[in-house]
Amino acid sequence: MKIRLPSSGLEVCPGKVLCIGRNYAAHAAEMQSDLPESPVIFLKPSTALVGDGGDVLLPSASREVHYEVELVAAIGKPGKHIPVSDALAYVDGYALGIDVTARDLQARAKRGGLPWSVAKGFDTFAPLGAFTPACDIPDPRRLRIALHANGVLRQQGAVARMLFGVDELVAYASSIFTLLPGDLIYTGTPEGVGPVEDGDRLVATGTDLQELAVTARRL
Ligand code: MG
Repeated sequence: MKIRLPSSGLEVCPGKVLCIGRNYAAHAAEMQSDLPESPVIFLKPSTALVGDGGDVLLPSASREVHYEVELVAAIGKPGKHIPVSDALAYVDGYALGIDVTARDLQARAKRGGLPWSVAKGFDTFAPLGAFTPACDIPDPRRLRIALHANGVLRQQGAVARMLFGVDELVAYASSIFTLLPGDLIYTGTPEGVGPVEDGDRLVATGTDLQELAVTARRL
């Protein structure tokens, strides 16, 4: 899937979909996970991306797929070892995303000390909305994000409650990976994650962000 970076107008295929785990204390608690001392990073393949209005395909390999609403930052220019103080200048835009997770497969992986790539990486497991230019969101900490499933409010959170802010995540990620235009960072989910069933309508909303709606379909 190509994305359009709102500030530069550049159309790019995201090379990296970086995702942050346990970035809200209340979600870490509901997962019975310890709080991390540094950001927990995993990656999804770009083939997991699906745009607004698309379908989330529930794979037969899982019986328990969950939604996780997240703020997504798109990188606008190349960077490595970016200082925290300069990090927001590398963000081109912000969007809503859903980190779709096969929770049963993730739990099995956790028990075995195995990677999360399968649990997180199925096709369509990374719904992504349209981007708002970063210049319209000078301080992402003031954003709020929410998720409705079939019209019922299931998740809401203040980005200010993230353990590691967008600036810290960009800086940390760039200490490991060279960040390139179009790379995405799914910044973690607040509490209230829950199951997705066949036919469910998931709608993500947020302050100054463009609504993202997807429908779940069982394969
Ligand atoms: Mg997540």
